[in-house]
Amino acid sequence: MAKERPPKGLKGWAQGRSLWILQFCTGCGAVELPPVMTSRYDMERFGITPMATPRQADLLLITGYLTVKTLKRVIRSYEQMGEPKYVIGFGSCTVNGGMYWDSYNTIKRLDLYLPVDLYIAGCMPRPEAIIEAFNRLIEGIKQGKFNGWIRYKENLRWYKRNQAMIMDIRKWSIDKKLAEEVWREVQEERRKIFEQATVPHVYEYAERISEVG
Ligand code: SF4
Repeated sequence: MAKERPPKGLKGWAQGRSLWILQFCTGCGAVELPPVMTSRYDMERFGITPMATPRQADLLLITGYLTVKTLKRVIRSYEQMGEPKYVIGFGSCTVNGGMYWDSYNTIKRLDLYLPVDLYIAGCMPRPEAIIEAFNRLIEGIKQGKFNGWIRYKENLRWYKRNQAMIMDIRKWSIDKKLAEEVWREVQEERRKIFEQATVPHVYEYAERISEVG
């Protein structure tokens, strides 16, 4: 079967000029979006507009920190979006956890769970930075540079494993069979480790989980 490739050229130009966004307004970055939408920056002139449901959208904006509970909904929404689809992470919270890096219930790195195409640095990123990111995304799509949804499908087991390390993925994943299989693997690994547990062993495992989370 031919390898899937991202659209480019005329198809890429058309795709990049009609990005419909699903904004998952988590964290502080969400308040930077209204100025990007309104008359001063006016993102609609690039063909970018908000959509109500994941199935209509092709650009997912993660606008800041994510709790494990919210991450579940975000992944579920991403999996429902049509292809091609793109993800932008806003601010240091999506890059490395930001000021919540040692929080017990937020994730540190978004790209362990979803294929992030672009990050916008800053805490919080200004509207100029967001517009710049949109322009880079549009240009990159035209050149066929962004292929996050293809990476997600090709490495689905790896993503599911990372997701299963921090939450139960069985009921809501689109590929339920794979989710069940990966979940069982992770549980089995945990069981073995805790059966043979010595205190340093458990600490080592806890550190590995916290690196993933
Ligand atoms: S990066 Fe800064 S502005 Fe963005 S969600 Fe985190 S703390 Fe808030």
